[in-house]
Amino acid sequence: MFIKLILFCIGAIIGSFLNAVIYRLPRRESLLFPGSHCPQCGEKIRWFDNIPILSFFLLGRKCRHCKLPIPVRYPIVEILSAVLFVIIYHVYGFNYEFFFYTTLSVLLLTVTFTDLEKGKIPNSVILLGVVLGLLMSLIFWPVRPPSWTGWPLNFTNSLIAFLVGGGIMIFWAAAGKLLFKKESLGAGDIKLVAMAGIFLGLQNTLLALFLSFLTATIAGISMILLKKARMDSRLPFAPFLASGALISLVYGNQICTWYFNIIR
Ligand SMILES: [Zn+2]
Repeated sequence: MFIKLILFCIGAIIGSFLNAVIYRLPRRESLLFPGSHCPQCGEKIRWFDNIPILSFFLLGRKCRHCKLPIPVRYPIVEILSAVLFVIIYHVYGFNYEFFFYTTLSVLLLTVTFTDLEKGKIPNSVILLGVVLGLLMSLIFWPVRPPSWTGWPLNFTNSLIAFLVGGGIMIFWAAAGKLLFKKESLGAGDIKLVAMAGIFLGLQNTLLALFLSFLTATIAGISMILLKKARMDSRLPFAPFLASGALISLVYGNQICTWYFNIIR
């Protein structure tokens, strides 16, 4: 319980940093300088107004200086990051997988919100993910356990998932363009799936893709029915891929075992 509390706090602090990244990267601002400041009035935020999750509520959801509302994205990202750290610890324990999967969660959380806010998946995040993912799968290779397929989650598996995940996305991007005469999946979406594949391995990449296409289709149809979107609106794909990937990380083995028991 104590470790979970500590990890919750670490996750929240990292989430607070991610908020700065989510705001600054698409605007091509430096991540380090200047320090925390209100995006609306530019006033420096002092440490006691910069406590993850809590400050948002203590400040009554507005900047102490300019009184303009603080976007609700700030506590949402901090809470999500904190909760993900605890969930991954709960499922995998505190070991190499913890670092592997929290790294992926942090990357996915970042692109989910840059995609939602700006429709952008920054190349720098993808590149960082590819480098970290390949390095970590090389280091962790001898100890990662086999999945239900009996195929160990090793470096080769990561590399194949990178190629197959990216390949499926290129195929669907091309098919979507032929069918709907417009771009439904962008280059950022393709690169994102390939990057996540390195961390997920082939089994969970395929499951994550299936889940994300399923939820994106349901969301797209509901939004058209509710008149929140039109047939030609672009739906950001990163949030769906991120949810699909995280569900696969937590329930992947259960879902696949259940599925293969049914069709057997
Ligand atoms: Zn302000």
